[in-house]
Amino acid sequence: MAGLLIKNALIVPMDDCSRAEDWFKGDVAIEGSLIKEVGESLQEKYPSFTVLNGQDSLVMPGFINCHTHAAMTMLRGYADDLPLMTWLEEMIWPREAHLDREDIYWGTQLAILEMIKSGTTTFADMYFYMDETAQAVLESGIRASLSRGMVGSGATAELALEESVEFIQTWQGQGEGRITCMFGPHAPYTCPPAYLERVMALADDWGVGIHIHLAETVDEVAKITKQEGLRPVELMDSIGLFQGRHVLAAHCVHLSEKEIEILAKNKVGIAHNPESNMKLASGIAPISQLLEKGAFVGLGTDGAASNNNLDMLEEMRTCALLHKVAAMDPTVLPAKQVLRMATKGGAKVLGLEHVGSLAVGEKADLLIFDLKKPHLTPLYNPLANLVYAAQSSDLKTVIIDGKIVMQERQVLTMDEERILFEAEKRGQDLIHKK
Ligand SMILES: [Zn+2]
Repeated sequence: MAGLLIKNALIVPMDDCSRAEDWFKGDVAIEGSLIKEVGESLQEKYPSFTVLNGQDSLVMPGFINCHTHAAMTMLRGYADDLPLMTWLEEMIWPREAHLDREDIYWGTQLAILEMIKSGTTTFADMYFYMDETAQAVLESGIRASLSRGMVGSGATAELALEESVEFIQTWQGQGEGRITCMFGPHAPYTCPPAYLERVMALADDWGVGIHIHLAETVDEVAKITKQEGLRPVELMDSIGLFQGRHVLAAHCVHLSEKEIEILAKNKVGIAHNPESNMKLASGIAPISQLLEKGAFVGLGTDGAASNNNLDMLEEMRTCALLHKVAAMDPTVLPAKQVLRMATKGGAKVLGLEHVGSLAVGEKADLLIFDLKKPHLTPLYNPLANLVYAAQSSDLKTVIIDGKIVMQERQVLTMDEERILFEAEKRGQDLIHKK
């Protein structure tokens, strides 16, 4: 089987193996969808492999965006600087009601194009018309964990259960395993406990995880505590949500000490979305406390309507800076820890094995950055340069599942011109619909 060989690069493996250094000079050999070997002078060993020159380049695992709503790119910049409920009820929800299947398809194409161009190789998505999202994932070559968003009360609650099952039946494992599925009950305040119990039973039947928004705002905590007599994470624990299954919980901003313990003890995957939490003024999640307790924490951008981009380099930098100033302690969340959250840590949050690091047998999802840039010079600590100085335009090449999907900033699997045209046209139509 033909392979790829990245030669003479600066390698940042983000693996957990015995190697003492966080970076070293060497080669990466890729065969099929997997990393075959990471080491030195590999060309003699793999003479038939196509060589990519890694001189003046940095190679690292692709970023994992642990929480987004991809097609919300269609609402980027439509409503900003508003209180959360005004933003949702008066601006976002009325427009979302007009989104049709084709809008979702093109909005997701736009999101994937942006993600690949800024180094995301895997994303976790929750939205509606997810067949169109999955189709865009399939065609683009990216990896994704997809959930059909479910609201557990009102006319569509039953339909959401049926369609989620159909979605999982159709898409789980598609794209040579690049697509995985979860159930996506929206949040404790939109899905009552009895409904969540039905979702849990179905998730167990189908052997998939659950993706949910949890403890995002002060209002949510107040509402759930008043209704149920327990805080949101306590309530989820009391119905057994975290027992014996994989759960991806987005946000986890407002947590008591006890709730931090619950999330850490049960290895719940936490998607931290610092920019969205800042922009909507939701609050600051207790990330260093969660990490100290051994919780699984990854990074996400959330949808483009509350961020307003899907750039994981920017999200890493924001994450590190936010927690330093919040704690008034510059030693909090050092670059390596944040980089880990954006790579292998994110894979754990999504429950994906063999993704997120450059090690033998891992999926070949990797990025090649151009180091010959003013803002990346001099290069003392590549991890610090990645988190604090790098820009997505420094990224040259993206490989996902062993295939080159972006080369010299051209996404080979997507029609960039058509995507920008469709998204602009459909966006303009969408915001003028009565
Ligand atoms: Zn969200």
